[in-house]
Amino acid sequence: MKLFGGIEAGGTKFICGISDGENLVQRVRIPTTTTPKKTMAKVLDYFKKIHQKTPLSALGICSFGPLDTNPVSPYYGFITTTPKQGWEYFNIVGSIKEVFDLPIGFDTDVDGAVIGEYRWGNGRGCDAVVYWTVGTGIGAGGMLGGRLMRGLIHPETGHIFTPHDKEKDPFEGVCPYHGNCLEGLASGPALQKRCGVKSIMDLPPDDPVWDLEVEYLGYAMVNCIMTMLPQRIILGGGVMQREELLPRIREKTLQNLNGYIRHKNIVNNIDQYIVPAYLRGNQGLFGAFALAENAERERNW
Ligand code: ZN
Repeated sequence: MKLFGGIEAGGTKFICGISDGENLVQRVRIPTTTTPKKTMAKVLDYFKKIHQKTPLSALGICSFGPLDTNPVSPYYGFITTTPKQGWEYFNIVGSIKEVFDLPIGFDTDVDGAVIGEYRWGNGRGCDAVVYWTVGTGIGAGGMLGGRLMRGLIHPETGHIFTPHDKEKDPFEGVCPYHGNCLEGLASGPALQKRCGVKSIMDLPPDDPVWDLEVEYLGYAMVNCIMTMLPQRIILGGGVMQREELLPRIREKTLQNLNGYIRHKNIVNNIDQYIVPAYLRGNQGLFGAFALAENAERERNW
């Protein structure tokens, strides 16, 4: 039996786990600190203990970004211009290679999540599917024709510019690069800072900030539909754990489309068109397993 290690590196936690190729064997959660070396030491210890008992075949990592995923770049395997303090230009793949001589798959957290959902979750049967995360950051990973969307680098959809009525919402946004891009206005940290709370779970369901959140995510959905017309959109991430948001975002999306796109899958079946993640928080980890398997195959071929 082959074992694959997977790492979903997030801004607040690293989810690490082991798969036998189909099933999740085990998983752990390691908090992300502002010292990458300390965080990675705990991550690597976890895999070292398993590898000593049963050797792993490969490791996959999907990480918050932006990342350099170009294999011929001198910065391949680095987290690059992240606003996450302490992690700018950290060589995350290199830190694993120092310890493990194994094939290593590497991609973004949202690309991992879309691969995981495509193979095992709500993206099954869809060759054109987009996964959005709305959490510490906002981002999306897309597959078209069964392949990851790739241009110069991975898409950075969280930083799309968003209509912002400053009379209704004077908050200037939290993105250090753009202020009031989508992530600047609608990520978890934006909600917390705007409302002065430590956790979005502290906000009551009738707080007016949720109207703004639905408005901004409604713009994101319609922009995504107009740009790519995917067969399905999957919404995940910490903010989407507020389950009351999803029906409101669907409704807002239909309002924004305003009858322009009339495909029956959207108009008659929006509940099956914009859906939550099937893998319930493990989508990134399953994506990391898929990346590990791909890395192993490439080496074997
Ligand atoms: Zn931005």
